[in-house]
Amino acid sequence: MPSFITRFAPSPTGLLHLGHAYSALLAYDAATTANGRFLLRIEDIDQTRCKPEFEQAIYEDLAWLGLSWEKPARRQSEHFADYDAALDILREKGVAYRCFKTRKEIADEITRAPHLSPDGPDGPPYVGTPLAALEERSLIAQGDAFAWRLSISAARNLLGAAFEQLAFTEEGAGPNGETGRITATPEIFGDPVIARKDSGTSYHLASVYDDATQGVTHVIRGQDLFHAAHLHTLIYALLGFPTPIYRCHKLITGENGKRLAKRDKSMTLRALRESGRHREDILTRLEISSR
Ligand code: GLU
Repeated sequence: MPSFITRFAPSPTGLLHLGHAYSALLAYDAATTANGRFLLRIEDIDQTRCKPEFEQAIYEDLAWLGLSWEKPARRQSEHFADYDAALDILREKGVAYRCFKTRKEIADEITRAPHLSPDGPDGPPYVGTPLAALEERSLIAQGDAFAWRLSISAARNLLGAAFEQLAFTEEGAGPNGETGRITATPEIFGDPVIARKDSGTSYHLASVYDDATQGVTHVIRGQDLFHAAHLHTLIYALLGFPTPIYRCHKLITGENGKRLAKRDKSMTLRALRESGRHREDILTRLEISSR
């Protein structure tokens, strides 16, 4: 069994750009160097924003870059039942609660209590209050939608001393140079949503579940997701999975010095390819030595 398994996990909500190419190439090279496995995972739980044509483009772009991956790629939209089961585990442990609040209600509460809300990795952190069973039942009966939040205080009580000892290893560096063994502070997320009203799951839950189930040992991704490891480390512990090693990499910036986003059309791999660029040009631009 290879002891090194990594993955590239794009969301098909737009065309891949140079930043994605960098991430995919680094992960692929790391797997090749370690004689390990490279997986591709399509993170398409957001069924309104994800489009089949973008998924198709991911396959084309990665093949053009010279990458190969184990087929078929795991598609998260085929695993909603698994994410439900993972949520059930958290519910049974008493660390998940229903949140019926609308975005607006939450935003208003945060504004009323500004001292509680320094910026969190996913926006201002919010800590809700679980409702009494009777009240929940009446809201459900009247058809009110709800999300599931992870209660950090319940998780802290459940895990006891182990909560304070939660830590992960960052072999690359976070945006402020964070590296090495890092104590996890999941509370920076407030009580995060782990199952959204619309999709019934979340990036955090699905990604952790998949990385664990696919045996991923090394998570290689951009620094923009560095803080997610603080929360993911807790979710791994609650689900009884080992935490992988993280290797965050720098973000690729455009000519204006700003990090690339899916809306930067000129930097998409497709646009670069159509303008006559070759795979080697991409490797040179990304300062990745030719293979
Ligand atoms: N699907 C996420 C994205 O496209 C990446 C998730 C990850 O690598 O953990 O930003």
